Amino acid sequence: MSKHIHYDVLILGSGPAGLTAAIYAARANLSVMVLEGHQPGGQLTITTDVENFPGFPDGIMGPQLMEDMRKQAQRFGAETKFERAEKVDFSKRPFTVFGESQTYTAGAVIISTGASARLLGLESESRLMGHGVSACATCDGFFFTDKEIIVVGGGDSAMEEATFLTKFASKVYVVHRRDEFRASKIMIKKAEANPKIEFIMNHTVDEILGDDHVTGVRLKNTQTGEKKEMPIDGVFLAIGHSPNTHIFETLEKDENGYLITKAGSTHTNIEGVFACGDVQDSIYRQAITAAGSGCMAALDAERWLEAQEVVEESANA
Ligand code: NAP
Repeated sequence: MSKHIHYDVLILGSGPAGLTAAIYAARANLSVMVLEGHQPGGQLTITTDVENFPGFPDGIMGPQLMEDMRKQAQRFGAETKFERAEKVDFSKRPFTVFGESQTYTAGAVIISTGASARLLGLESESRLMGHGVSACATCDGFFFTDKEIIVVGGGDSAMEEATFLTKFASKVYVVHRRDEFRASKIMIKKAEANPKIEFIMNHTVDEILGDDHVTGVRLKNTQTGEKKEMPIDGVFLAIGHSPNTHIFETLEKDENGYLITKAGSTHTNIEGVFACGDVQDSIYRQAITAAGSGCMAALDAERWLEAQEVVEESANA
């Protein structure tokens, strides 16, 4: 095992939360390393126009915003590395984080590993991912020009993606497992008014059909159990997200796996370990709220590290 590299603050994840934490922590003269994970920049890098991040009256492209945030963090001395944390040891201080190529120790750790798109769990889904199956309409919509596709889900994401996909597809079917949508009324209305969108209620996707690309789906009626095949060119999944928290065994999580932070702060149940962004927020999930909580995490970490020094100094006096 190579030698440990030590930082004041180690940040896991490089979305708006992690990079904002890096800007604040580095600017406070702390040594900072951001382990960027396998999707540097996070979920915004798979979106196009971001129109609601304040300060950009004409909007900004997601990947550009994240590139700018990374540069801003680096300007103050934060290091960033294309590496994923595979294991952590928060049982003693300094904390240890095992990356893919290197082991790190840190005085404080900020977790901003975000959330990832939920999948149906079908073998055919993973086999055909990228070959007609997608979890990102903004990334892949263009490939379905004049094609017929389905969007799975009944929340705001499903409505938004179905509406967006009608820019390309000739027909979009929204397949939902219940007879009622979870989405907000305004989003449903917009989708309902779109002549290219049709709703298939009370159905789940039982199987995605095709050898090397999607040719259809087998749908199952959730009320009668009846199955039917439907020819289709693409399947877009919009069934929510799961937080990326599986490596944090000793941290408190809610029933959906989101990290729990103490009210009004970013403190987790382990002193010196902080959480910000979507990994601890299943409600707002916005770039700006993630960035705001990233700022909070850096301030919390800075204050906590300072308090540790005071404790150490008085112990040595
Ligand atoms: P969501 O609200 O959790 O909805 C997920 C949908 O997928 C639900 O309808 C759910 O069905 C369905 N689903 C879950 N697992 C499934 C499975 N295994 N098979 C079939 N269907 C499944 O997720 P979301 O739509 O991604 O939205 C997440 C949050 O972001 C929400 O707070 C939403 O308001 C917000 N959001 C806002 C906007 C906007 O305002 N522009 C856009 C997108 C998202 P059930 O309903 O039966 O549980």
